[in-house]
Amino acid sequence: MANKITIPSMPSCTGCGDCCGPVAATVKEIKKIAHKVKKKRIKWIPHALDPVKCGFFRYSDDGKSGSCAIYSVRPWSCQAFGVLKEMPCEFFPEAVRISMPADEAVKRRLIPPYSEGALLSSHFAPDHGDRQINALRLKKQQDMDNIMLREVSN
Ligand code: SF4
Ligand code: SF4
Repeated sequence: MANKITIPSMPSCTGCGDCCGPVAATVKEIKKIAHKVKKKRIKWIPHALDPVKCGFFRYSDDGKSGSCAIYSVRPWSCQAFGVLKEMPCEFFPEAVRISMPADEAVKRRLIPPYSEGALLSSHFAPDHGDRQINALRLKKQQDMDNIMLREVSN
């Protein structure tokens, strides 16, 4: 199955960034973004007042709009937002042009399966390494607890 679909542009977008919340990306997209951020030294910058906002969104000086620091390699779901019937922009709902149900998008590898939880923040937020280590520590602790419980109950 061809996984390419043409995404029409959304002329009405004001670049307000309201839709730049947690966004998922496929492994292929993550690799492309990783290459770009390394080459261009682009940082994930958390938004103190809006922790779920994408760290690649940069506000303009007046704070009313902004732009995407990884625009040329932004994930498919970012490109499709606003023109996809399933992801309408709340400000310009009339801009929707095409339809792609989520399961079909997963099948075509346009978005990752939900189970992969491939959020951009998980890959590019600065504390991701720390969170991974903490998760490993927790897992190790749980394994130890389980072993001890088994020993006590035997
Ligand atoms: S698609 Fe809509 S919410 Fe997203 S930046 Fe454009 S105008 Fe704002
Ligand atoms: S990658 Fe770019 S377009 Fe996508 S959510 Fe982040 S700032 Fe918005």
